[in-house]
Amino acid sequence: MLIDLSEILSLEGKTQVVEAPVSMDSFQSKLGDFPVAEKEPLSLTITNTGKKVLKIEAKGRITVNIPCDKCLKDVPTEFDINFEQEIDMQASKEDRIKDLDEINYVTGCSLDVEQLVHNEILIHWPLRVLCKEDCRGICPKCGKDWNEGSCDCDQSSPDPRMAVISDIFSKFKEV
Ligand SMILES: [Zn+2]
Ligand SMILES: [Zn+2]
Repeated sequence: MLIDLSEILSLEGKTQVVEAPVSMDSFQSKLGDFPVAEKEPLSLTITNTGKKVLKIEAKGRITVNIPCDKCLKDVPTEFDINFEQEIDMQASKEDRIKDLDEINYVTGCSLDVEQLVHNEILIHWPLRVLCKEDCRGICPKCGKDWNEGSCDCDQSSPDPRMAVISDIFSKFKEV
């Protein structure tokens, strides 16, 4: 959603409040493509503080499913958006880019809600995502979820073909 800033820009000292729906269904970045599990509208408060400076405040919440680092199970990860920034609208677009390169959500006289949300998710992206603190991961050979129990694979053998052979042996032992 794009919000037109031209009206508030002409009303010095005034504040505009907008409930902006977020349309993104997935978060796409260099990290990959992650489905959005839950989202609420972004609550925007835009204040014209004078001299063509706008104070942008944004609050919202979005939940993105990120796979667990160890077992790859989807982990619903909540991003609390609590954003505040002042933008000098008199500065040219180039100057704004130079100042702070994250002001890419305002182009000309419009504010791009999706871009703002995208930036906030990217900034707060967790370094590590685990479904639980002590996630045991999955077997690299058979894909068994070790949280549900162990498997018979020989983890000392780096060759998966050997794992199959030792699997056969352990089955013989069971008989
Ligand atoms: Zn896990
Ligand atoms: Zn296994």
